[in-house]
Amino acid sequence: MDKLSIKTDLYIGQGAMDRLTEWKNKRIFIVTDPFIVKSGMINMVFDRLHESNEQYIFSNIVPDPPVEIVTEGVEALGAFKADMILAIGGGSAIDAAKAMKLFAGKLLDQTDLPFIAIPTTSGTGSEVTSFSVISDKQKNIKYPLVSDELLPQEAILDPELVKSVPDFITADTGMDVLTHAIEAYVSTKANDISDALAEKAIKMVFAYLPRAYKNGSDLEAREKMHNASCLAGLAFNMTSLGLNHGIAHVAGAKFKIAHGRMNALLLPHVIAYNADYKPGYGKDDVNATAARYAEIAKSLGLSAPNAKSGVRSLIQAIKQLQKELHMPKTLKECGVELALLEDMRAAIAEGALQDGCTATNPRVPTEADVAQILNK
Ligand code: NAD
Repeated sequence: MDKLSIKTDLYIGQGAMDRLTEWKNKRIFIVTDPFIVKSGMINMVFDRLHESNEQYIFSNIVPDPPVEIVTEGVEALGAFKADMILAIGGGSAIDAAKAMKLFAGKLLDQTDLPFIAIPTTSGTGSEVTSFSVISDKQKNIKYPLVSDELLPQEAILDPELVKSVPDFITADTGMDVLTHAIEAYVSTKANDISDALAEKAIKMVFAYLPRAYKNGSDLEAREKMHNASCLAGLAFNMTSLGLNHGIAHVAGAKFKIAHGRMNALLLPHVIAYNADYKPGYGKDDVNATAARYAEIAKSLGLSAPNAKSGVRSLIQAIKQLQKELHMPKTLKECGVELALLEDMRAAIAEGALQDGCTATNPRVPTEADVAQILNK
């Protein structure tokens, strides 16, 4: 028996930010990053908050937030005596705020603080997940915290907030969405409900990510990608993820590559590995996971007369999408020197096998398998 819950209330579409006008008499602790303040985007919050509220703004979140910032935030939150947390920003701001809420609950006895997440990138799905990814900058590692206490009570998905995302971040975060959905679809915990969410998200990425990338003001494409990100988040919150994320958490931290970009680099190779796909094999030599990838290929209208062809079509379609988004194809193109890769390979392989996401991968990897994927 599986228990599947969707706990977060969603306010979606243009005008969704107006939900904020309904909160009154609160002490609101706002967590965000410096860009949201400097760009003036924060005014979209201030303009809507009723004057009976008091607010404190904690705005020093950096990408891949380190544990020290979380600790600082917990202290500020306690000193302000917040009775509500509002996170506005990309996955980094939302994850940091989620970790602050978790630790504040434990340290300051402030459980049940209402938590509102307002994503300004379309990528992580963090607004609906029980995950928060925190970095240890000394050890160069990222670790996912997992707890239902991390689930936001409300999420506001307003496409106006993502119009300003530059094209390369649109590409990186969009590929994060695709990776979430594909990993959810082949996870050992996949089920009919998560399949439906993941399949829809995958179709939306292929239809709308190139449009959002080429023209950031295309509000329809922005809205669809924002919703796709949330759908993929709902899917992987039910199924967890897989080896792609297991490797990306470790390698992204070691090589300082943005999370979505690192996922995108790995995706074609992890699919080939999971399906046991090799161009020279016969058509029946792929494994059962290949049939799942072929289902995805079919749903995208790609050629998939058998499992092997389906895997090949899916990999080709992903590579084509990456090309349209002008994304790097190799670690070398991301500026990683071969010597550094050789230095780090064994540690990454070891770390990837220990990462919580790898546990639900459809094929059980060895360190040698991970090393081979990295070599590609
Ligand atoms: P991010 O939050 O790190 O932001 C990337 C950059 O985009 C920052 O410089 C930020 O200032 C900028 N930015 C954000 N919104 C913008 C806007 N509207 N316009 C212009 N610039 C904007 O990036 P992200 O990809 O959203 O989040 C990545 C983090 O989330 C990583 O730490 C990753 O590990 C984590 N993550 C968490 C989950 C989860 O379930 N909690 C899932 C996947 C990834």
